Amino acid sequence: MYELAYSRPESLTEALALLAEDEGAQALSGGQTLMPVLRARLAMPSRLVDLQRLPELAGIRLVEGGIEIGAATTHAEVAASAHVRAVLPALADLAGGIGDPAIRHRGTIGGSIANNDPAACYPSALLALGATVTTSRRTLAAEEFFTGMFSTALEPGEIVTAVRFPACQRAAYIKFRNPASRFALVGAFVAQLPSGYRIAITGGGHGVFRWREAEQHLDGGGAMAAITEDMLDLGHFTGDLHGSAEYRHHIAAVIVRRALSTLA
Ligand SMILES: Cc1cc2nc3c(=O)[nH]c(=O)nc-3n(C[C@H](O)[C@H](O)[C@H](O)COP(=O)(O)OP(=O)(O)OC[C@H]3O[C@@H](n4cnc5c(N)ncnc54)[C@H](O)[C@@H]3O)c2cc1C
Repeated sequence: MYELAYSRPESLTEALALLAEDEGAQALSGGQTLMPVLRARLAMPSRLVDLQRLPELAGIRLVEGGIEIGAATTHAEVAASAHVRAVLPALADLAGGIGDPAIRHRGTIGGSIANNDPAACYPSALLALGATVTTSRRTLAAEEFFTGMFSTALEPGEIVTAVRFPACQRAAYIKFRNPASRFALVGAFVAQLPSGYRIAITGGGHGVFRWREAEQHLDGGGAMAAITEDMLDLGHFTGDLHGSAEYRHHIAAVIVRRALSTLA
């Protein structure tokens, strides 16, 4: 590790000031991605601004029509939350399946979505449920927030403060996990909202996306069994040592059908 400064601000205002006054400074949440990145010298910030103690980023709250989760909430807290279990059980299940206990007790929802790893689980839930992301500057729909692989609409010095989800009992997440990392080789979050079906796929390689053809098929009264990879663009998928693009493409359709069958 090289020398760098570390700050643990007590308020969001203080954190924003620290990030604004040093353009080499970087936000730190659970460190489950950032610390390995620093160890590999893939990033060399001059200062880490620790967001874990900010009261503005803490807590899980029931709000009208759904639930709001503070950005510093760990995956373990989401998984164990009675509020999340009551209004959005699929999200609690998703959080409980992230990584291993050590990752779940440090990693946060804010860090996960800010990082937007193309194999991460949360982005698919945000996209499928039509969640909104609140930052220190604005509120963004999930669709605007995620802009591609490891890329988001966040601007320098902007901090995710919370994520708001609608309540939904008819939702499910299925992950075909990479047995080594436990990230999604492919993952599918499906939801039946008042506006219709929403299906988001993670792990394809280019970043999370909605499978709109399958959504339209279901909204038009089409049979679940007729959803196959033939209606899914292979261009969403890439291959690596863990699986080819064709393999991921096929698995995506299988787990979407499986997730949908749990809603029935
Ligand atoms: C072995 C392993 C297995 C994993 N398995 C899974 C898995 O199965 N599914 C899954 O989804 N994830 C998985 N993860 C990722 C993990 O769950 C963390 O969510 C993720 O690493 C980032 O969250 P963090 O809180 O640790 O963020 P950090 O590592 O602290 O930060 C990540 C990035 O986000 C930025 N950032 C952090 N918080 C904020 C904020 N509030 N506002 C703006 N920017 C911010 C940081 O500057 C940094 O660029 C795994 C990680 C590891 C190491």
